[in-house]
Amino acid sequence: MRPHLRWSRARRELVAQLLAIGVRDTVNHRASTALGQENLKNSNKTIRIGGEEIPPGQRATVNLPVADLYTSTQLSMPVHVINGRSAGPTVFLTAAVHGDELNGVEIIKRFLRLSALKRLKGCLLAVPVVNVFGFINRSRYLPDRRDLNRAFPGREQGSIAARLAHIVATELVENADYGIDLHTGAIDRTNLPQIRGNLSDPEVLRLAKEFGAPVIINANMRDGSLRQYAAENDVPMLLYESGEALRFDELSIRAGIRGVGRVLRALDMLPQRRAKRPPIEPVQATRTTWVRAPSSGIVRTECRLGQRVNTGQLLATISDPFGEIENEVPASTSGIVVGRSTSPLSHEGDALFHLAEVEDDKEARATVDEFQNVHAVEENWG
Ligand SMILES: [Zn+2]
Repeated sequence: MRPHLRWSRARRELVAQLLAIGVRDTVNHRASTALGQENLKNSNKTIRIGGEEIPPGQRATVNLPVADLYTSTQLSMPVHVINGRSAGPTVFLTAAVHGDELNGVEIIKRFLRLSALKRLKGCLLAVPVVNVFGFINRSRYLPDRRDLNRAFPGREQGSIAARLAHIVATELVENADYGIDLHTGAIDRTNLPQIRGNLSDPEVLRLAKEFGAPVIINANMRDGSLRQYAAENDVPMLLYESGEALRFDELSIRAGIRGVGRVLRALDMLPQRRAKRPPIEPVQATRTTWVRAPSSGIVRTECRLGQRVNTGQLLATISDPFGEIENEVPASTSGIVVGRSTSPLSHEGDALFHLAEVEDDKEARATVDEFQNVHAVEENWG
């Protein structure tokens, strides 16, 4: 049995016992029970992470040692812990699991400055840079050329990727009730703001809708991913994808900050807004398809991110440098453009457009337009 399962089951049993005591007490000791339940409901617990203790009502940054470098310096992964005075869930919030995906780093940086966090219930474990090696090298990967998001659950004595995965698994996932992991597209690929998750889990679906991205995609689990490890540990997790590697995208950042806030409010960890704006009803996609370049050449894009396209619609043309030979790139299916290549150069077979297949095209168009209005940013995804 995994430690977290043991822990959460133990906690559930404790709550059940306390509630049972509470029920008995309402018969026998009405006054003392009210006080006991109030205490149980309101006081938060001390968080233990990296061998340090953060009591309720405190914020602290804990450096989790990752590895010794060959420069005789130690590399660590800083975790910012905000432990609220009042009880509530523990949520991990991570970015740069792929070291070159930067929007999430900015999302967490700005989110941590919000004054509403003074009234946080429960605990937030925020890690703006998980893959500290990749971040330094502006690389998606680790020095052992592994992808951290394929290395879970990792091993304490394994490769660098395995060690880092082990730290995230034991210090974050196993300490948390929920998780949000922030990503972007790869180099030369940009994504429409979207939530990916296991939508067959009702709690993941509820929070995915609350996040407020225009599209949510039921994504298959990938072996060794953080998301798979979280699911195995009974920790509902959202993956937010938006923008492009090594670039900041203001709309993606703003939508991410709002989305994280909305999810924490949905978990009752932050105070509700007085005039709560209903979340945009996102479009749900169950299947996505990549449209690939039919030939090598220079790409002229004829569609934009978020656009609804029909089967056969022209997405781009690819030509030789003289413009003498031109090949059309048609949509292989109807759907919304949720990702695209940003490079004007392509080899035959390169992935150019990522299409999410949706049922109702009118609804899809309305959602994406509304999203752009809400975030009041000029369309800058190109
Ligand atoms: Zn990523």
